[in-house]
Amino acid sequence: MKTSSDRIAGLGTTIFAEMSALALRTGAVNLGQGFPDTDGPSDVVEHAVDALRSGRNQYAPGFGVPELRVAVADHQRRFYGLEVDPDSEVLVTTGATEGIASALLGLVDPGDEVITLEPYYDSYVAMLQMAGAVRRPVTLRAPDFRLPLDELRAAVTPRTTAILLNSPHNPTGSVLRRDELDAIAAIAIEHDLVVISDEVYEHLTFDDIPHIPIATLPGMAERTLTIASGGKSFSLTGWKIGWATGPERLVAATMGVKQFLTYTSGSPLQPAIAHALAAPDAYFTEFTARLQSQRDQLCDGLARLGFDVFVPEGTYFVTTDIRPLGFEDGIDFCRRLPEQAGVVAIPHQVFWDDNDAGRPLVRWAFCKRPEVIAEALARLDVLRR
Ligand code: PMP
Ligand code: GLN
Repeated sequence: MKTSSDRIAGLGTTIFAEMSALALRTGAVNLGQGFPDTDGPSDVVEHAVDALRSGRNQYAPGFGVPELRVAVADHQRRFYGLEVDPDSEVLVTTGATEGIASALLGLVDPGDEVITLEPYYDSYVAMLQMAGAVRRPVTLRAPDFRLPLDELRAAVTPRTTAILLNSPHNPTGSVLRRDELDAIAAIAIEHDLVVISDEVYEHLTFDDIPHIPIATLPGMAERTLTIASGGKSFSLTGWKIGWATGPERLVAATMGVKQFLTYTSGSPLQPAIAHALAAPDAYFTEFTARLQSQRDQLCDGLARLGFDVFVPEGTYFVTTDIRPLGFEDGIDFCRRLPEQAGVVAIPHQVFWDDNDAGRPLVRWAFCKRPEVIAEALARLDVLRR
């Protein structure tokens, strides 16, 4: 009996599932998987309850409910000046994860080469493998995790068809700057490449660093599929409502896959996310300010314990080097940490092809209440040398 396909060979269980299960089993404070420990806005939750009670419980249209598609288009105009047609250039997906999966399966053929930023979010590797594509990592290195432009140029081959971007970047927390985006855009245009841009942390940049969607650069709107998520922007990660926006042909190819993966995404949650996207500016500024203060709390605490801390410019996550505390191997460190200190974190190695570079790095999530971060730091005190 054949019990699994070559398509999933070696993919195993995601590190997030493994580490969250470990946190539950051991009662450790979970600074591993990136999910907030506070609920999203109560008015948004009430909207979903209203939708559930008012009979919006059958299949949504394939592309998503009209008010969410309009709200996504309004959001792209309001924050970035981007014009997308809600009828043909917006696709609602079951989280950004399904958007990424559908885009890669719909846009990339077996043998195509896809440039990705290393370290990379784990579902990229899995989906590139399932699509039969070859990944070409371009590595962001500590301490500042900037994009090495020469290496990016050198990664393009005649078989390259797409660039899979992520900014703000998980796990490093770096945010691509204008000069980096200009270089990516120039390469994409010169070699006629599609850009798939994962921007799920678009509303989580700190210290006034702007998030610049690559679709806003000259010549890029027509070759960029942008992926986003209501889970991240509204602290509702369990709702799994995301969207892809871009030119009609790229959205249609993505829809070509999505329709057979899930057909449509959860209907009663979509009008609520539409309502959320229209939140006043104050919601977004307060959200970012709160996360920035939690970032500072965790980064300061980890630095006091003796870790080398690479302060992130965006996302939910901070990366540290564990060697100053006498550890070498992040996987080993993270597997022992719940027993040793009652805390869960995520080893970077799983996000790297370059094992040596990832080995001493560990990622910690700060999308947690200040008292939870304080408790985690107090527990980690046992590691101090
Ligand atoms: N992309 C990145 C970079 C992420 O960190 C995540 C994490 N949740 C996702 C995509 C998936 O988002 P969703 O939960 O909306 O599927
Ligand atoms: N994006 C989240 C993280 O990086 C986790 C999402 C997931 O579990 N797939 O922690």
